[in-house]
Amino acid sequence: MKSLQERFDSKVEMRGIDECWLWMGGLTASGYGQIRVNGRNQVVHRVAWELEYGPIRNELCCLHRCDTLRCVNPRHLFLGTRHTKNKKSLRERFRSKIRIGDEDECWLWMGALSTTGYGQIRVNGCLQFAHRVAWELVYGFISDDLCCLHRCDTPRCVNPRHLFLGTHYDNTHDMIAKGRANYTNSAKGEKHGMAKITAADAKMIRTLRAAGWLQREIGVKFGISQVTVSMICLNKIWVDNLSALR
Ligand SMILES: [Zn+2]
Ligand SMILES: [Zn+2]
Repeated sequence: MKSLQERFDSKVEMRGIDECWLWMGGLTASGYGQIRVNGRNQVVHRVAWELEYGPIRNELCCLHRCDTLRCVNPRHLFLGTRHTKNKKSLRERFRSKIRIGDEDECWLWMGALSTTGYGQIRVNGCLQFAHRVAWELVYGFISDDLCCLHRCDTPRCVNPRHLFLGTHYDNTHDMIAKGRANYTNSAKGEKHGMAKITAADAKMIRTLRAAGWLQREIGVKFGISQVTVSMICLNKIWVDNLSALR
């Protein structure tokens, strides 16, 4: 006789590690997958969790992060109480806080905003960026090492067509390119409280770089990161002092 694991595996359409794994077997009336265990029907995502992590205490529910009821990817599941379960679904809460426009328009987030102007929504007790949640609701789970970025440069926008995924490196450079990084946000150069280097330092840094010093070595000398050195050398910082430096 086939084991539960074998019967489970034979009916799951497994995809990428972070994607939804869809249950191809029977469904409950409310749309969850179901499987027979010891003569009784059980919801299959709960079985998926137990096969991966072990038995679930009776008083706990197994819930989806991804809003795909048929999904049995254990990474998309978490345990919660009945109270968590009965809260409005994430999709409903999300929809109630956006102003949906035409396909190509920015869809503005009408809920809470972060200090940097991005929409925020609480998901399983943690504040998350609304645009990131927008992406996940439409295209699926985003792994932790990726950022969700705007093509349209409107932080409050949650139109999935205006979003794309990039690395943290892309995010930093995207912010610099759009002038949104902290050090270029309000004031530039010496007037800015966070500046660790003077205009003369910046000039010296470029001179050292031109003389063949490594960015890392320069960073150590001035007590700043290699990334900052790189940005100084690329004139991304001290832009308003350029004429004085030339
Ligand atoms: Zn899923
Ligand atoms: Zn937009």
